[in-house]
Formats: sequence, C-alpha cells, structure tokens
Amino acid sequence: MNKPTIKLFNSLKRSVEEFIPIKENKISLYTCGPTVYDSSHIGHARSFIVWDCLVRFFREIGYEVKWARNITDIDDKIINRSLELGIEPQKLARIETYKYWRDMNNLNVQWPDYEPKATENLSQMFVFIEGLINKGFAYKATNGDVYFKVSAFKDYGQLKNIKNEAENISRLEDLNCKENTSDFALWKAFDSNEYGFESPFGHGRPGWHLECSAMIKNIFGETIDIHGGGEDLIFPHHENEIAQSEALHSCQFSRYWIHNGMVLVNGRKMSKSEGNFVTIESALKKYSGNAIRFFVLSAHYRQSVNYTEEALQSAQNGINKLFQIFAHDEKIEINKTNLNQNFIDNFHNYLAEDLNTACALSIAFEIAKLINKSEGNITELKNTLAYILSVLGFNFSEKPISSFNENTQNSIVKLLLDIRNNARETKNFQLADQIRLHFEKAGYKLKDSTEGTDLICVN
Ligand SMILES: [Zn+2]
Repeated sequence: MNKPTIKLFNSLKRSVEEFIPIKENKISLYTCGPTVYDSSHIGHARSFIVWDCLVRFFREIGYEVKWARNITDIDDKIINRSLELGIEPQKLARIETYKYWRDMNNLNVQWPDYEPKATENLSQMFVFIEGLINKGFAYKATNGDVYFKVSAFKDYGQLKNIKNEAENISRLEDLNCKENTSDFALWKAFDSNEYGFESPFGHGRPGWHLECSAMIKNIFGETIDIHGGGEDLIFPHHENEIAQSEALHSCQFSRYWIHNGMVLVNGRKMSKSEGNFVTIESALKKYSGNAIRFFVLSAHYRQSVNYTEEALQSAQNGINKLFQIFAHDEKIEINKTNLNQNFIDNFHNYLAEDLNTACALSIAFEIAKLINKSEGNITELKNTLAYILSVLGFNFSEKPISSFNENTQNSIVKLLLDIRNNARETKNFQLADQIRLHFEKAGYKLKDSTEGTDLICVN
C-alpha cells in the first residue's frame, strides 16, 4: 500500500502541516478520554469516532500506531455526583466506565492500546510533582495544595497563542493560597475524612491536567507524535499539560496537536441546564451506531456540527443506502487484491488531507451509484465500497434501523386503512380482511366507527 503524504492541522502552529512521525512508520497518539461521572454524550461520540477513524486510516496505510486514551476516574465532578447518588465515588466511576465502554462498542470505536486510569497512576503523578518542585516549577502552598508556577515557565500560552491570558482569565478568582492567580493545582489537599489518597504531599487528590502528563510519560516517554482532544480542552487543559511536561523534561511534549470541533444540539451549545443534553445511549435508541458515525464523518472534524433529528434521520438514510448494496450478501469479506485503484487512491488522498472524511464518504456514494446502475465491474466496485466503509469504521454486523420516520409510518398506516375502507365500500371483503389480518398479526385490532377506523394495540 502506497503511503500518501499526510497533512494535519497542527493547533500548535495554527496551520496544516505535513505529518512526519519521530520514528519511521511508528505513531504515538494520545487522546483525552472521559471523566466518568455521568453518561457519555454525543460530543464524546464525535471526538472518539474521529480519532478512531484517524487510527484506522493510519494503520491501513501501514503505520504502527500506539493509541492511548485515558479514563479520569477521580475528579470533583465524580465526588459531587456520588454524594448526590449516595454511592462510593469509585463505584460510580466503575459504573460509568462500563457504560462508556458499552457506548464505544455500540459506536464501533476500537479499544485503544492503552487505557490508563488516573487512580492507577498516582505514583507516577507523585514522581512528576516532585520533579517539578525540585526544578523550581512547583511549590507547596500554605493550605497544603501543590501548584504549578506559571511564571517560571516562559513558553506558557504557546498552544492558545496567548501571553498572560491565564492571569487575565483568573484575575477575578480568589488568590487563595497561590502565589499567582494563574498558577494551577497539581495536588489538592483535603482533610483526611474527605475522599482522597495519601501522597508525599499529604492527603488529597491530583489535579486533572497532571494526570495526562504523567500517564503519557509512563506509556510513551517524554515526547509523543500526536496529542488530540476536543477544542474545548485547548485551554487550560492542554496548555497546562504542555507546561508541566516541557518544564520537567526540557523538550517538546507533543509534536502535533489536533482538536475536533464541538457538537451543537439544535443550534445551541449542549448543556443539562438548556435541556438539550443528548447521551449516546438515548441517540442509539433512535439511530444506529453506523448512522451516528455517518453523521460525525459527514462533516470535517474541525468544524462544529449541529445535531438535529433531521440531520440524524438523513444520516440514517445515507448509511442505509450504502448498506442496502450488501443486503443480500450473507458475509462481507474484503479482498484487497480486487480494489478499484482509482477510487482507493482518491479515498486515501482525501483522508490524508487533514482527515477529510466528508469527501472520503462522497466516494462511497459515487461507487454506490455505479453499482445501482450496474455500470462497471460490480464485484470490484462492491469490494471497493466495503473496503471504504470498513476503513471509516462502519460496522457490518450491525442490524439496520429503518429510516422510516414517524410521519412516513403514519402515512403508510393511513394509506392501508383508506385502501381497506374503499375495499369494504366496493364489497371487496377478501382484500379488507387481508389488511385487517395484517394489522392483527402486528398486534393491532381495527375498530370501525362512523368517524373512521381506530387502531387498538392489543399487545
Ligand atoms: Zn488530557
């Protein structure tokens, strides 16, 4: 397989750059995972589907990828929700982790090669903090917290392209025991009766930013090829990860930073208080995992996308159209020696161009059109289409979900009832009975009256 030149938008340079890994053919990739305190939402789905697709593509063109995606299983949000629910924080984290794994499985997102949990990496975090204190980049405050000293790290603000913005942002914040408002916590001290862990700095809990830096060091070492996450993580989370890691190691932390855009719901930012919070679980009750993946990949990963019922319905229709081609095939096996090279080259080139999945998907439709018109070598075209869908991570074993929406279903029911009424009027009782029997088989009794016919559910 020819390797196309890969270009990625590097948030660090604010431009599209050619991607060259540190070691030939090998890629170390870290993407920030969820904080497991509540159900994963459609924003998580987008981020994880996009990085899953990137990994599949890299592997397909011959790179050996090591992908790490963490689980934040200790955080104030977990503690607060566990208090609300009256269960142990670690039990809540475990329950939400299982649900998250189930959601990822339903979306056909691959397992990462590493899935470190914060609570399993505390000793690495202690070593990290001690290293920063020893080098003068961190200090223990009088309240027992340990803070990163932003003013000691001269390159602070390189990712967000800011200087001193951290100070502006947090100026209103109470200085508390920090030397400077922009300093951020590496370790937060808590009373021994509060939930926490014993550490060389006393009883407490780790700062969120620290966990990613410590786990990356533990898995990959001091420098990785690519670090990814949602664009809402650029500041302060990723900025602070850079500060911690580069201060400690005196070398570049991640060579490329990639960020996916946000998911809006009905044109607005998703939030629980707005009442437009869509969990992956609830979306999967209406649409297939393939439809959600199709919705995500139909847009460029850096754009924001708008989740609406219409958009998801249209994604469901789109993916159904493509899978319809394989409706009569018992098993789909991809034969890589029988691919249409022209289409494959275009497909790879689109993905290599900053992961342009929208254009890559358009090739699938071009091929489907030819197959539906019986033009060209159908076996080769079907094989090429199956290959494209598999590289994009669509799940061939998923049961299709009907793309009929409620309106369509209602109008079909109405049409059948009209036909039956006409049949009765013209004394075609055989047809009228046939329609009635079909409804009864589906669990509905028909009740006729002068106003029309009512459907009564009998199941
Ligand atoms: Zn992170």
